[in-house]
Amino acid sequence: MKVLVTGGAGYIGSVVTERLLNNGYDVTVFDNLERGHRAAVDSRASFIEGDLRHANVINDAMARVKPEAVLHFAAYALVGESMERPELYFENNLGGGMNLAAAMIRCGIPKLVFSSTCATYGTPLRVPIDEQAPQKPENAYGESKLGFEKVMTWYAKCHGIQSVFLRYFNAAGATDRLGEDHNPETHLIPNVLQVALGRSAAVRIFGADYPTPDGTCIRDYVHIADLADAHLLALRDGVSGAFNLGYGTGASVRQVIDAARRISGCEIPCETAPRRAGDPPALVAAGEKALKELGWRPQYTDLDAIIESAWRWVRQYPDGYEKER
Ligand code: UDP
Repeated sequence: MKVLVTGGAGYIGSVVTERLLNNGYDVTVFDNLERGHRAAVDSRASFIEGDLRHANVINDAMARVKPEAVLHFAAYALVGESMERPELYFENNLGGGMNLAAAMIRCGIPKLVFSSTCATYGTPLRVPIDEQAPQKPENAYGESKLGFEKVMTWYAKCHGIQSVFLRYFNAAGATDRLGEDHNPETHLIPNVLQVALGRSAAVRIFGADYPTPDGTCIRDYVHIADLADAHLLALRDGVSGAFNLGYGTGASVRQVIDAARRISGCEIPCETAPRRAGDPPALVAAGEKALKELGWRPQYTDLDAIIESAWRWVRQYPDGYEKER
């Protein structure tokens, strides 16, 4: 099966690309390399350097590749940045996504697997969060992803494109070869591990006065290898609709720091900082639908195992993908 992977040089897209190739898929990666890394793209994949914001570029690529399905990861994904520069998020995530969808319509591509997010729910009325929960994003990132879900829901009705929305909770961890390397890095686990490595002085805890047991935000951290598996399941014939991808267990910022201390054996100093705009207090998935309907069988449900994999990766590649490998 031939597939096009947008954002295949990014953190999650690169892991899914590797997994697809290992399972015999013919993969073309489409990526502008603005935030992704050429070195993260598996050498077995074809590669097109291009930006979804240029409609003609994605049209040409789609017509050339003519995939049977598209897996769409290419997007900006930083909550904090999205509240400072929301226009970037609507232009790239929504505008770029619409160019991609238009190219799919033009070329008659029948299936999309979309990298969506729990940020589309905003602060949920109930935790854990199931797929029926109201989607009321509290940051521009979540709104841009929800906007694209809505567009694709109409294109399913009107153009028959089958879409699967995989709403990730917090992607984390690393495989042997592939890990998290953003510049600037804003995510909790890599930031904590940078302190353990001695490359930054202290972890800043964004808010210690949330209505949670230890006052810090709770998230459902999911290993990227488990996320990758869900994409292969989503590609199967007849699968469509939204699936939450989380383990149903939450860890607070302080619990993540404690786990990293245990695993690294390092002290990891931390300090309390003001809340970050757009952060809901707790996001934990009710993942039953993915287990039942997708047949998802996650392997890394233990936070320590996730952090251990990330710790292994940062020690092996302390400069990330900077040095081409
Ligand atoms: N966080 C923090 N310090 C950091 C980075 C993140 O306290 O250096 C907090 C952040 O405010 C949120 C949680 O950790 O409550 C997870 O943030 P991350 O950016 O990793 O993922 P997000 O939930 O924003 O997708």
